[in-house]
Amino acid sequence: MRPEILSPLFRQTTTLKGVGPRIGKLIEKVAGPRLVDLCWHLPAGIVDRRFRPSVAEAPDGAMVTLTVRVDRHQPPPSRRVPYRVECSDDSGTLTLVFFHAQADYLNDLLPVGATRVVSGRMAYFNDRPQMPHPDHVIPVEAFDSLPLVEPVYRLTEGLTPKPLARAVAAALAELPELPEWQDPAWRQRQGWADWRDSLRRAHAPDAEAGLDPADPARRRLAYDELLANQLALALVRAQMRRRAGRRIDGDGRLRAKVTAALPYALTSAQNRTLAEISADMAGASRMLRLLQGDVGSGKTVVALLAMLIAVESGAQAALMAPTEILARQHLETLTPLCAAAGIEIVLLTGRLKGKARAQVLARIADGAAAIAVGTHALFQETVEFRDLAMVVIDEQHRFGVHQRLLLGAKGKAVDVLVMTATPIPRTLTLTAYGDMDVSKLDEKPPGRAPIDTRSMPLSRLGDVVAGLRRLLAGDARVYWVCPLVEESDALDLAAAEDRYAALGRDLGPAVGLVHGRMKAAEKDAVMDAFAAGEIRVLVATTVIEVGVDVPEATVMVVEHAERFGLAQLHQLRGRVGRGGRPGTCLLLYTEPLTETARARIRTMRETDDGFVIAEEDMRLRGAGEVLGTRQSGLPAFRLADIDAHRDLMPVAHDDCRLVLETDPDLRGPRGQALRVLLYLFERDAAVKYLRSG
Ligand code: ADP
Ligand code: MG
Repeated sequence: MRPEILSPLFRQTTTLKGVGPRIGKLIEKVAGPRLVDLCWHLPAGIVDRRFRPSVAEAPDGAMVTLTVRVDRHQPPPSRRVPYRVECSDDSGTLTLVFFHAQADYLNDLLPVGATRVVSGRMAYFNDRPQMPHPDHVIPVEAFDSLPLVEPVYRLTEGLTPKPLARAVAAALAELPELPEWQDPAWRQRQGWADWRDSLRRAHAPDAEAGLDPADPARRRLAYDELLANQLALALVRAQMRRRAGRRIDGDGRLRAKVTAALPYALTSAQNRTLAEISADMAGASRMLRLLQGDVGSGKTVVALLAMLIAVESGAQAALMAPTEILARQHLETLTPLCAAAGIEIVLLTGRLKGKARAQVLARIADGAAAIAVGTHALFQETVEFRDLAMVVIDEQHRFGVHQRLLLGAKGKAVDVLVMTATPIPRTLTLTAYGDMDVSKLDEKPPGRAPIDTRSMPLSRLGDVVAGLRRLLAGDARVYWVCPLVEESDALDLAAAEDRYAALGRDLGPAVGLVHGRMKAAEKDAVMDAFAAGEIRVLVATTVIEVGVDVPEATVMVVEHAERFGLAQLHQLRGRVGRGGRPGTCLLLYTEPLTETARARIRTMRETDDGFVIAEEDMRLRGAGEVLGTRQSGLPAFRLADIDAHRDLMPVAHDDCRLVLETDPDLRGPRGQALRVLLYLFERDAAVKYLRSG
């Protein structure tokens, strides 16, 4: 239950005076439906009215506040001409201009002979100073009521600044005083005001500096949000650890069989990682480990050996992939190795239906299947494991934290290993995963052929096709990726189909097409044909379709490379040159290139190190983009800026850890305040992990 003290903040904005259903809808669109959403809608700019020149000194285009006498009204002869009010001070005359004005209203506002303060933007007309539609017109005595610096809020079509600003002000007037959840010593060192004051100050910047993420009020609010985020993650994790108590310790016999069957020796990075995993599994608490490794760094075999620890101990393991194709790919890689170990592996995806599905479910339920590979279908309630002890989640950035926990709930105290091919800098790992333990596969298996990366404008397509024809005379196998852009996927699909048709004309029948709108079975058929070499050039519209492993693939052509992020380009390039033969990556771009796109392509040509590329990616795009919520299912922040407030994340992390060490159930005074914080930032799902109280 949300604490009573927060109730005013979670009221609908339409309960505010002056916010009717129409304005409410517009506010909802730009900020959200509740008062708290208005609070988080921080100003995007300011209007500074402090410049008070004389009329003659007021420059064209400037925002000014002038004190003038009203000399004369000039009502318009027709509706098409504006209403003018002539004013002056000792330096010169100023014309106030009103379109569609009401004479009565203007006579009241600007009586002839009176002195008025007018504030607005100057716009010269025929070299004469004018001010169209002043923002404020007030009597001199009321000067103090003029807002000299006004916040400017992001708007949406149909919403004008005034009603929004009024609604924000009304919401801010109702802010409750909340208990302090920050560590007092820390807050004092930062020199931060309390929450309510900080929020009010953030909405009342008195200069541009007040809009900067470095502004103390904004930093305080950002810290609060990061603290809520870290606390929620820490609670989830503490809860997982609390339910622990299972030690999984294999005798190594299955692992020995599999390593003997591998045509290669494990790298030392793989061995180190496996030692870390087996230590976790043998420990009393639950494993929650992130395995980071570049494309091709050999994560799959690590996953298998880790799963075998569970199987050796008599339990089961599951491997979850983000798509059907990848799940099937894993199955194909793992099946011979499982055969070598003498254990059964099954595939469970959404596509498996009827009797076949029932059979697989039965094998999972009675424990005959030691390992289950699949998609999110593995989560469904109908899936019962006899004894699931360990779960590997591949390509985690496609799943949300929630799903991860769901799968964890399938067994008692299931150990979780999350694999990601996107190396993420430490601070971002904290944001995304909380305090998961991290293993890094930072060494590539030997014998990887270098990949020759080139870039070329699409206008040289003729040369590219001629080059491909030469390569195809040999035994080249080519991916040709045409990106899909979400807003116009029909158009892009058409572009890919055109490309497919054109390449088919130029290169013959060995050209295939796979795209996101095909049925899974159709996709599989195309992928199989490509793997078998019946298709030699595969045109694909999405990245994920080429997530599969075809060791014979040697050439990767990326059309519209400028539309891809660095991480994606790196992933794509990693798909070729896997079979020990040198690969080629061709980045085709359309001019003009933006500065960033140019830098990305340059980076791709210069390095093949995933960790270097990840850092560069972050520099170019900003961390917020790297962790973009849409792809990642990661938390979106309302106030914190992952780049600008990066330094605060580790502090919030350590802070939570200390709090939970001394007060794991948040019962003390600070603990109670932190509960309020969780509700304020709607991380209250984590509250249920607390023991009652
Ligand atoms: P990732 O999933 O990390 O992208 P994979 O697990 O698919 O990488 O491995 C890429 C390729 O490297 C596979 O063909 C695999 O058989 C091979 N491989 C894995 N480990 C080694 C190793 N220690 N030595 C040589 N080749 C390896
Ligand atoms: Mg993989």
